[in-house]
Amino acid sequence: MTAAEMTGIGVSPGVAAAPVARLAPPPALPADTGPEPDPEAALAEARAALEAVAADLDARADRAEGPAADVLFAQSMMPRDPALADRIAKALSDGRSTPHAIAAAFGSFRAALEAAGGYLAERAADLDDLRDRAVAALLDLPMPGLPDPGHRFVLVARDLAPADTAALDPAAVAAIVTEEGGPTSHTAILAKSMGLPAVVACPAAAGLADGTEVLVDGGTGLVVPDPEPGRVRRVLDAEARRAAALTASRGPGRTADGHAVQLLVNLGSQADLAAAAAVDSEGVGLFRTEFLFLDRETAPSVDEQVEAYGQAFAAFSGRKVVIRTLDAGADKPLAFVDHGHEPNPALGVRGIRLARTATGASLLDGQLTAIAAAAAQHAADVWVMAPMVATPGEAAAFTAQCRSHGLATAGAMIEVPAAALRASRVLESCDFASLGTNDLGQYALAADRMNGALADLLDPWQPALLDLVSLAAEAGREAEKPVGVCGEAASDPLLACVLVGLGVASLSMAPAAVAGVRAELGSRTLADCAGMAAEALHAADAADARRLVAAYGTA
Ligand code: PEP
Ligand code: MG
Repeated sequence: MTAAEMTGIGVSPGVAAAPVARLAPPPALPADTGPEPDPEAALAEARAALEAVAADLDARADRAEGPAADVLFAQSMMPRDPALADRIAKALSDGRSTPHAIAAAFGSFRAALEAAGGYLAERAADLDDLRDRAVAALLDLPMPGLPDPGHRFVLVARDLAPADTAALDPAAVAAIVTEEGGPTSHTAILAKSMGLPAVVACPAAAGLADGTEVLVDGGTGLVVPDPEPGRVRRVLDAEARRAAALTASRGPGRTADGHAVQLLVNLGSQADLAAAAAVDSEGVGLFRTEFLFLDRETAPSVDEQVEAYGQAFAAFSGRKVVIRTLDAGADKPLAFVDHGHEPNPALGVRGIRLARTATGASLLDGQLTAIAAAAAQHAADVWVMAPMVATPGEAAAFTAQCRSHGLATAGAMIEVPAAALRASRVLESCDFASLGTNDLGQYALAADRMNGALADLLDPWQPALLDLVSLAAEAGREAEKPVGVCGEAASDPLLACVLVGLGVASLSMAPAAVAGVRAELGSRTLADCAGMAAEALHAADAADARRLVAAYGTA
């Protein structure tokens, strides 16, 4: 008998079938039951655990190439360092249990590295990882961290940190399934940008064991354990045909009856640049500039920013690039800005509000200076927008500041419900607006976008969110100023048609989503899109909206 099918939320389309490999959490240290009755035997067990870790790293290094292989070989030398075994022996003779003796030995090395500072201090986290692996080997638990079973696999995890997702090798990972996680979490955004099929908020995946063959549909959110081979073949063939049709789809976004909708890409890091520029799009609808500011001790200089923005403008020469000024605070704190203590950082001094502080004002001024200088050196059509605008006054101040830097096209992100409700006033001062449906959904439904337990509320199909989109799009039409969408909602082909029916002028999404959205849009008239939008607005809830729109025109 085959195991029951499971459903979660499909957040990155595509279909894949492969065996499961789980991301094991770091082992919890059991209570210290020392001293060990036979310290000699305990030391031998600890050495065997260290050797198992080293051998695992060697095997990974053999399968890796280039710098990754060198790093893994170098890492495998650490558990074999005789000084480590000496310290474990000492901790055992001090009366520690074996797991605690291992942790203590790694802890003393860690302290030495931290004291050395600089590059060595940054390697302290590597030791934590090795300690966790050694304790796991000792206790016969799965190795923590990203698995490397030596073949393509479906990565299953309780949740994935963005750092884990960013470190994935798309050639080895066929798909991602997480038990928790929301549809607009940054992990979902990263999976989409890597083109990996992904399903989040699938609690039943907790029961999937390593090695179980699964079929994953990142569009519908379906996860099928032990699928019948015939079904896998049919689904993968259909996927191959879909992929071929998408590759064949080219040109600017249009409905079947020729209504133009700009299709743009979201850009979140320098590493994405070449791949994003190669996609057939009309430009960048959201350039997240945070990547230049996060994870560093001091702010990047204006020159450094001119260089980084210039690279993006050069890659998109002749196309539109909507660059968003720094969206810091809340989940993206900056080391060089004192954010103070905020009980609710998501409701605190974040986004454009940072400019209320002296440091934030000077960061914004430096950033606009750099954007203007880079724009002057390149042929991209540069638009600038501010994150987290709440009032028409904030929009007007930002527009004036952009103009004073010679930046001709200034806009506001609409991701706070107040700005959507008063979109016509917000648009009075600016040239365009862009709906950030990820935050707009979080604030409209009062649901933290990182909280997978609230995934149903964060669903971008929520009719209340679509009401706000509709208000803003209508304001744009009346003012004859473009209002687009750059949140994750734009990358769902059916929802993209709904957004067009609501009146949005452009859709910006992960590069991998463009072809699917273009193909769906090209198969619907503008009247179809309006009909789909009406169905979604009248739906009882998100699931109902999805169902009604999927069924549109099939009766
Ligand atoms: C959004 O909130 O929808 C958005 C596009 O911005 P970010 O996801 O970077 O907060
Ligand atoms: Mg946002």
